[in-house]
Amino acid sequence: MKEIILLGASGSIGQQTIDVVKQHADQFKIVALSVGKRISVLKEILKEIKVDEVCVQNQKDALKLAKEYPNIHFSYGDNGLLHLVSLPKGDIVVNALLGFSGLMPTLKAIEHKKNIALANKETLVAGGQFVKEALKKYQVTLYPIDSEHSAIFQCLQGNSRSSVKRLIITASGGSFRDKTREELKDVTVKEALSHPNWSMGKKITIDSATMMNKGLEVLEAHWLFDLPFSKIDTIMHKESVIHSMVEFEDTAIMAQLGTPDMRLPIQYALTYPERLPLNGEYLDWSKFRELHFEPLSMERFPMLRLAYEVGEKGGNLPAIMNGANEAAVQLFLDEKIKFLEIEELVEKAVHNLEYQAHPTLEEVIDADQKARIYVNQLVEGESN
Ligand code: MG
Repeated sequence: MKEIILLGASGSIGQQTIDVVKQHADQFKIVALSVGKRISVLKEILKEIKVDEVCVQNQKDALKLAKEYPNIHFSYGDNGLLHLVSLPKGDIVVNALLGFSGLMPTLKAIEHKKNIALANKETLVAGGQFVKEALKKYQVTLYPIDSEHSAIFQCLQGNSRSSVKRLIITASGGSFRDKTREELKDVTVKEALSHPNWSMGKKITIDSATMMNKGLEVLEAHWLFDLPFSKIDTIMHKESVIHSMVEFEDTAIMAQLGTPDMRLPIQYALTYPERLPLNGEYLDWSKFRELHFEPLSMERFPMLRLAYEVGEKGGNLPAIMNGANEAAVQLFLDEKIKFLEIEELVEKAVHNLEYQAHPTLEEVIDADQKARIYVNQLVEGESN
């Protein structure tokens, strides 16, 4: 029986993790979990899953819940997350937290010799170097849950990393893939949130529309697969049937295909190297007579270009880009800025905040904070 600590249980990935666990209740058991502020969702989860450790975001919620569920220990906030991943139980931590907040729990879980199933790409984008060092030091394995990276991970099985010519990360193109930049000027939050292929959380859906998501995935791939940026390519593939590919030096290309269902990457991260049945939909080839591919234009999608630039320079820039993006996306969701301002703000943060080539972990955390403050101040300054 594999014991799972699930961080971010109320989100899209968290809920699908619970579904996977329910399908294989003889093999997996969730022993601790966290949610943010969605207490009603937590209560639904607790009807089905028996755990004795739960972390929520706010102390107030934790105190209230402790009275309602006397058999469960409730912790809260950042320290609560660190407490969960430090418990003696738990073989693997599924990290489905939102954004940069996932970094410290990942590092702490690794210290406690727990394997990681990572859906939280911002962890690797901002703190990839520290995560890698910790994985090595504590002899722990990290499995990708991002669909593209899971696809690459699957394609690499049985092949040596040194024979890889390049990774080809596919992109659906997001909600606005058929719009020109001119047409993006007045798009609404609602339009941005309607992704053509995938049903996901709000932050990642906006990131898909700006193509920042693909940029973050390029950095994520760099750390996961230990490859230089010159060997990481992207391609637009609107059908989302091919989840990504690996090209080898003998010209062979391996691809992983299937319906867009995040439960497969989640399950594979939990069952690796085994494959178990999944009650998902099989690909219906009668619906896909043609698959389409086109290069992603760096002019049309400047966030992708920026991500490569930031990845190459490294240091604290990925943390600045990521922190600025998280802040800007929130401002867009709150309808305080327009869609194209997300890009402007992220560019400004990357090019105006102080660059450090070799930051410590504390300096990376500081860069994230400064980027958020910078973006919010720029927007407040404009509105005053
Ligand atoms: Mg992805």
